[in-house]
Amino acid sequence: MKDTFKHKGLRQQLVNTVKSKGIKDEKVLKAIGKIPRHLFMDSSFLDHSYQDKAFPIAADQTISQPFTVAFQTELLQIKPNDKILEIGTGSGYQTAVLCEMGARVYSIERQNELFKKTSKFLPKLGYRAKKLVFGDGYIGLKEEAPFDGIIVTAGAPFVPKPLLSQLKIGGRLVIPVGDDVQIMTLFIRKGPKEFEQHEYGEFRFVPLLGDKN
Ligand code: SAM
Repeated sequence: MKDTFKHKGLRQQLVNTVKSKGIKDEKVLKAIGKIPRHLFMDSSFLDHSYQDKAFPIAADQTISQPFTVAFQTELLQIKPNDKILEIGTGSGYQTAVLCEMGARVYSIERQNELFKKTSKFLPKLGYRAKKLVFGDGYIGLKEEAPFDGIIVTAGAPFVPKPLLSQLKIGGRLVIPVGDDVQIMTLFIRKGPKEFEQHEYGEFRFVPLLGDKN
């Protein structure tokens, strides 16, 4: 698992690209600049690791585009020690970004192949999520709720109610909502039954699917 001078240079260029597209949060940019994205990808895509693009990973899934990862993370407004739930562990790259920013991370993945692979891989890089779960993100993680933030990294046809109810008051849910195209949506919990909603334009994700696989 090599991280060379060349990789570091390419990573700095990626940080500049993401910054030029509007990401301002220095902590997010620092995390992108530090995490060796090439190690999260299949070897056939190694040469493309630092392009600002999504790429295929195992089980017909994708590692999200770095700009998208940065955009969603910025919307979460993470503070060190925040308790964050991620839906869609996938390659573990977004999980690593959250860990790097000092969050206590809980992450759920419905594809067993990815769950097993990423559970082994992340600790090797020194990223220790509080809990990686093989399960269905539609139902969240009630036993660990409430969360300061919840991030959904797959396209949700609707907003799952359990995720809204597992937010702290003041907590933030970042979720791409839609079928073929998704609208990045932020919910801020203002009270037991009050949520503020903001929308941030179109994105494209693999779908949030039901149950486990
Ligand atoms: N965060 C990931 C990363 O950095 O690589 C992004 C992975 S991909 C865009 C979305 C992931 O969500 C896939 O791994 C997919 O299997 C997972 N997924 C889809 N539906 C799910 C569900 N109901 N519960 C948990 N994970 C789900």
